[in-house]
Amino acid sequence: MRIEMLRTFLAVGLCISAGTFLAAAVTAGDTSARARKLHFSSLVVDTHDDTTQRLLDGKFDLGARSSTGSIDVPRMREGNLGAIFFSIWIPSKITGPEAVHRAMLQIDAVREQIRRHPKDLVLATTAAEVREAHKQRKIAALLGVEGGHMINSNLGVLRSYAALGVRYMTLTHSGNDEWADSSTDKAVHHGLTDFGKDVVREMNRLGMMVDISHVSDKTFCDALETSKAPLIASHSSCRAICDARRNMTDEMIRDLAAKGGIVQINYHVGFLSQEFRNAEKAHPEWEQAIAAEIKQRCGDNEGRQLIEGDRITREYVEQGKLPRVEWTKIIEHVDHAVKVAGIDHVGLGSDFDGANMPYGMEDATKLPKITEALLQKGYSEGDARKILGENTLRVMTEVEGVSRKLNAGK
Ligand SMILES: [Zn+2]
Repeated sequence: MRIEMLRTFLAVGLCISAGTFLAAAVTAGDTSARARKLHFSSLVVDTHDDTTQRLLDGKFDLGARSSTGSIDVPRMREGNLGAIFFSIWIPSKITGPEAVHRAMLQIDAVREQIRRHPKDLVLATTAAEVREAHKQRKIAALLGVEGGHMINSNLGVLRSYAALGVRYMTLTHSGNDEWADSSTDKAVHHGLTDFGKDVVREMNRLGMMVDISHVSDKTFCDALETSKAPLIASHSSCRAICDARRNMTDEMIRDLAAKGGIVQINYHVGFLSQEFRNAEKAHPEWEQAIAAEIKQRCGDNEGRQLIEGDRITREYVEQGKLPRVEWTKIIEHVDHAVKVAGIDHVGLGSDFDGANMPYGMEDATKLPKITEALLQKGYSEGDARKILGENTLRVMTEVEGVSRKLNAGK
């Protein structure tokens, strides 16, 4: 997400929704025995976390419990987060060799954390490796590159990322890259260019999941048509509930599912809540004020900017200026996506440490509440497990199968 989070500030009253009642029924840390049993016996997968940015300043250690942000080993353990995709991200405006260089440093930063914490973390590159990590009571750490600009229009760079363990690439971030249009930029390529289609085909061959979060609707259509493997939307929510370009329309969700893909619901308040969007539109000048405040507090440290952005948003909510968004909005989006796509095509992609989290979902320790809420909504235990992680693992397995076939020349 990022960046978008800076555009969400102004004076609006409290947001009271149906979700508030569910929030009252499921209080923090007070989940039922049945939900806890189910949650702690499930393989919970999160397909998008921006914690990588925090690793870059050299002081943050994943192994120690932090009082800020959302992700570290102790809190992942406490919330039973079994597999996490660490996002490799730099802004869209940074391109060329500099983009590759910075992506490599981030991949190294994640891999170094894994090396330092062998009892807790293990690099996973396949669904089977995720399951094996879980069996060994370790957290599976995976890599996703967020933005095609980081390959510098070179399939060799893409292949090198794959060799280092990267298992998905988001085709764009918030700006267009040289070969694909983004949902939050002015369209110039009319979707994917011919080279963009080659990128998708090479990702299929490499067994790297094609991620359509952030891309324009036309890029999505082109990727869906080109890809031989199911697509993922690693951190997107439903446009029918919150009209953000970053979210997916029901038609897109249906088409994605029809080809075996999955939408992993994003927890960012600006994607969950229409009230937040409306607030954003009403007072665009607040964005600048917030951006200036973040810059003043954090300078150019992107990891700190992300954490402070979330904190400043909370300050505005506490002052009654911004609408308060409850965590139960996540369940609303999950449930809507299930109704549109079917139970096999929805998962979780939090955007932790890169976005503004709703009340009650501040960090990984809160995840059991999602399981509780799904049970309360009448989901079977098997269906809840699918949302929590099994669907994502099924897609990974299918993408691996397509890769094997393509490499065998079939
Ligand atoms: Zn994002």
